[in-house]
Amino acid sequence: MFRIIALALALALCVRASPAQEVNRDPDSASGPRMVVVRAEWLIDGTADKPRRGMEIVIRGNRIVDVRPTNSRPSPAGADVIELGGATVLPGLIDTHTHIYLQGEDPAAGGYDVQLLKSPASYRAARAMVSARRALEQGFTSIRDMETEGAGYGDVGIKQAINDGIIPGPRMWVSTVSISSTGGYPLEGYAPEITVPKGSQLIDGPVEARKAAREQLDKGADWIKVYMTHRSWVDAQGALISQPTLTLEELKAIVDEAHGWNRKVACHAYNGVGLQRALDGGCDSIEHGLEITDAQIAQMLKQGTWYVPTLQVYYTDWDPADTDSGKRDRKRVAVHGVSFSKALHAGVKMAFGTDVGGFKWSEPIAEEFLREVEFGMTPMQAIQSATSRAAELLGKRGEIGVIAIGAYADVIAVAGDPLADVRALKAVQFVMKDGTVFKKNPL
Ligand SMILES: [Zn+2]
Repeated sequence: MFRIIALALALALCVRASPAQEVNRDPDSASGPRMVVVRAEWLIDGTADKPRRGMEIVIRGNRIVDVRPTNSRPSPAGADVIELGGATVLPGLIDTHTHIYLQGEDPAAGGYDVQLLKSPASYRAARAMVSARRALEQGFTSIRDMETEGAGYGDVGIKQAINDGIIPGPRMWVSTVSISSTGGYPLEGYAPEITVPKGSQLIDGPVEARKAAREQLDKGADWIKVYMTHRSWVDAQGALISQPTLTLEELKAIVDEAHGWNRKVACHAYNGVGLQRALDGGCDSIEHGLEITDAQIAQMLKQGTWYVPTLQVYYTDWDPADTDSGKRDRKRVAVHGVSFSKALHAGVKMAFGTDVGGFKWSEPIAEEFLREVEFGMTPMQAIQSATSRAAELLGKRGEIGVIAIGAYADVIAVAGDPLADVRALKAVQFVMKDGTVFKKNPL
């Protein structure tokens, strides 16, 4: 049976022209898949330091086959021409830390717990589909979704439905269930006699850790998500403290297993012992990284560790200032911006992430760009964090996050100049994903 499938696959690959063949032939050749030309006054290509004026993007099927001065050659015969006037075109944006299975639930309305305790899996999947659509509407043509929060392997099915063209949504890299330790993830605070669902797979010991990683990889995880810290508070000296979860041995088992599958490990880590274990254990990306010491920054540089800060989410839903949780909320923000600036100036590899789902999907994902600029990125650096840099984190350099020959035709446009004001990115008016126009408002 397996051999028959392999033979069929080989035949299918023979008859379909490979993307490389599509790219290498004359971009204006009339034969082959449908062609589209996108024209706008300004082009930000995701890698170059400066925008270019008066360029057109030539697309065949789902790939970019040329980027050239407008009207430098006649339009290919039969091509659709999309005129975007004075707009700025950019590569489709990439958010490398999302949760389509979270909805920024109001704590007063039951918050996180209600989703796990009262919502049928189908209801959560329906909402996740809407979240995925919201990402695409806002110009995010790729996301790395950082676990389903008690919804099991639901992200695998959403990704498949998007890839099969059943529902609209971004390209997805999914991390399924995630891994933490006993006492290292909600639901919490219920009677000890009852068993409640947990938003993560809880393990103890390197054997269980490796087994959890194997299960998740086997069932479709593109990345493994690990929680290296959990509770956090402010101590008597005013320092932010976070509870470490996995031991170094547990983490090393997971990283070793994932790397053996050619997959990567994203580690939620706030600061302190847990963050240090995340680095010593070989995490590929540090998520949040609220407070990173100079020595840890040096270690990240040495190891090539990615940093995915999530600034904006911590500015929402603060508890009252005189409560323990309220003090923690304020301290998180106070240290995060400092760490972001230090890492940026040291040259740590940084990618755009938001934790959207932690806040409502109805709020603009692009708000994070404003925080990135506030803490030291130029608007171009901020854009690149969500384009070419994020693509590099995902191992897709040159394929997404860039407008260049050979890349997927993920193209967005905004009115105005996002380099003068990154708020322009909050109003994406045109979205093409994989060569297909998803959204086109008047520009
Ligand atoms: Zn998250």
